[in-house]
Amino acid sequence: MSSTLRFQVVGEAFKKHPIDVPAPTERPSEFFAKYVFNRAKMQHYLPADIFAKMVDVMENGATLDMNTADAVAKGMKQWAMELGATHITHWFQPLTEGTAEKHDGFVEHDGKGGMVEEFTGKQLVQQEPDASSFPSGGIRSTFEARGYSAWDPTSPVFVIGDTLMIPTVFIAYTGEALDYKAPLKKALRAVDKAATDVARYFYPDVKKVVSNLGWEQEYFLVDEGLYAARPDLLMTGRTMMGHDSAKNQQMDDHYFGSIPERVAAFMKDLEIQALELGIPCKTRHNEAAPNQFELAPIFEETNLAVDHNMLLMSLMKKVARKHGFRCLLHEKPFAGINGSGKHNNWSLSTDTGILLHAPGKNNLDNLRFITFIVETLMAVWRHNGLLKASIVSATNAHRLGGNEAPPAIISSFLGQHLSDVLERLEQSADDEITWKSKHEMHLDIPQIPELLVDNTDRNRTSPFAFTGNRFEFRAVGAEANCASAMIALNAAVAEALIDFKARVDALIAEGMDTMKAVLKIVREDIRTCKPIHFDGNGYSEAWKQEAARRGLDVEASCPLVIDRYLDDASVEMFAKTHVFTRNELEARNEIKWETYTKKIQIEARIFGDLCLNHIIPVATRYQSQLIDNVHKINEIFPSDEAATLSGDNVSLIRQISEHTGFITTHVSKLIEARKVANRIESEREKAIAYHDTVAPLLESIRYHVDKLELIVDDELWPLPKYRELLFIR
Ligand code: ADP
Ligand code: MG
Repeated sequence: MSSTLRFQVVGEAFKKHPIDVPAPTERPSEFFAKYVFNRAKMQHYLPADIFAKMVDVMENGATLDMNTADAVAKGMKQWAMELGATHITHWFQPLTEGTAEKHDGFVEHDGKGGMVEEFTGKQLVQQEPDASSFPSGGIRSTFEARGYSAWDPTSPVFVIGDTLMIPTVFIAYTGEALDYKAPLKKALRAVDKAATDVARYFYPDVKKVVSNLGWEQEYFLVDEGLYAARPDLLMTGRTMMGHDSAKNQQMDDHYFGSIPERVAAFMKDLEIQALELGIPCKTRHNEAAPNQFELAPIFEETNLAVDHNMLLMSLMKKVARKHGFRCLLHEKPFAGINGSGKHNNWSLSTDTGILLHAPGKNNLDNLRFITFIVETLMAVWRHNGLLKASIVSATNAHRLGGNEAPPAIISSFLGQHLSDVLERLEQSADDEITWKSKHEMHLDIPQIPELLVDNTDRNRTSPFAFTGNRFEFRAVGAEANCASAMIALNAAVAEALIDFKARVDALIAEGMDTMKAVLKIVREDIRTCKPIHFDGNGYSEAWKQEAARRGLDVEASCPLVIDRYLDDASVEMFAKTHVFTRNELEARNEIKWETYTKKIQIEARIFGDLCLNHIIPVATRYQSQLIDNVHKINEIFPSDEAATLSGDNVSLIRQISEHTGFITTHVSKLIEARKVANRIESEREKAIAYHDTVAPLLESIRYHVDKLELIVDDELWPLPKYRELLFIR
């Protein structure tokens, strides 16, 4: 883009945009889930016996027979056609980013030369998308490129535009998962089973434990015109060059600030559409960085929450374009200011309440609370490296370890109250605990206050913080599918609870009272998982060293962190919980390494191009103007006076040469490093080479490009600058 064009684009972006949000005629309670085939609609559109069967399928995992499926499809079709739907698609989450869909019309031949609208149970339940180009990590060799998608009846179908969308899992014919949903559902089943067993020590009637997820989605908005003028943003989702804006977030005036009108219009539109799709949007606000915002819904069952997050991310992108924006979900679109994460608020609950909630009323509830807290900590302690592996990516790597985001070490913040309670319990002597009756124990520990729910002592530097009645896994990236983190966390907690139960049952078998046995094992575990507990400043250098001493995983290189999936402890845990086989883990790691490499490869290509055909030519042109000026000064002034007058420009000419010289030689090195890495066969080794030899060059070259941006005439500079990109009018 020529510089004149840049001014045009920037000028456009800064003009006041027309703000057009239709005033909703209905209240949210009226249009909520308008496009979702939820229970109320099932009841209305399905025969009573079919509805009852569906409830059994959804609640108890009963198997679905073809007759029921046919009847359900019939009702769905009627409902969807009333909303104008003409097509259906199986909607799934392959191991790429985002979701996949393939649309089929409702039409079928009627046998008389005409057409009928048709949608059968078979089409609803299972399809075979031609899936040979989705990543499989070698599970499906291309000649046997068969995979199928199968309906997930626990996540309701919905209509978008003219299409009935059916949430599905995506599996190879040999049974291995090719997506996120299949293993997530397995992890949720495992944690349900394990947590129900443990919850029954306290409440014998518990039938089911549900895993909850409330995500908080952070994002940036940029003007669409400016975005189009930044090839790096367009290709990689982040700016790979750009000097700090003089003003960015140092005044802390954006966080919770008033929302710009144009953005408010976007948010309103987004929320209405999200609510219509059954996403229970609740909170919206400005985030810390300029142009950064957050949307959070009310928490839901984890499988549904994951689907809703995937749906929301694609909705955000679509609605943003309608408002002349681009929505950036990259974890670090701009250097020097905050990146975007997606806090995953997680808890377990039964139909009577949240297991991580401290009621402070009686000791039985308190011991239940402590048991679930401690066993969660056991899981996080045992699998801290794996949990980190579940959230790393080439893009999230820019955020982790930076001085504004969770460090690349997983630890857990508990806060003063809970720390005191655990410590007291651990140190209490056996005779301090007396039992009045079977369920009434007197424990000389500080009363567990209800106040824990309002735990205000928030430590923003902790990647896994206890925040009242839940843990907040904060290291998850903005762009990520939450399922990755939720699979690892729920499976690890399931394993910890299975293990806990085995030890408690062994004591009971020896004749120990149940609650005493629970307490004994809890106290043992408080001691064991201590290394994971850290309430201090997670950003400090001292913590890195301390964490290493404690045996926590301190690896920061993304390709090496991915190795944690293949640790014996991980393979064993995933096998025990029936979530992944070793074969699946190996295949998925191949995909992770390959994805990492591709991301850096694309970055390196576009970055090299921009350096050579945008930056160097402009810097050289400006340098020539300066040289010309020096010559002219020398022509009209006596030489000693000319030397004084042109001194500054001569110095600038030198600086420009130094920067362009560095850029030119290092872009050559970058190309060479890529060539060397590309020749490596192993995906793991190749990713390591990209991490160690290619990625660092991007940073070192950028430094010089950003220096040039400060020197070169603004009128010549081809790319929109941070100060233009970051302030929406
Ligand atoms: P923050 O103060 O961290 O921004 P919010 O109060 O906005 O947190 O809540 C963030 C998310 O946590 C919301 O989605 C909320 O519904 C969810 N949440 C609240 N309690 C729980 C819980 N017990 N389990 C899971 N998620 C929860
Ligand atoms: Mg939060």
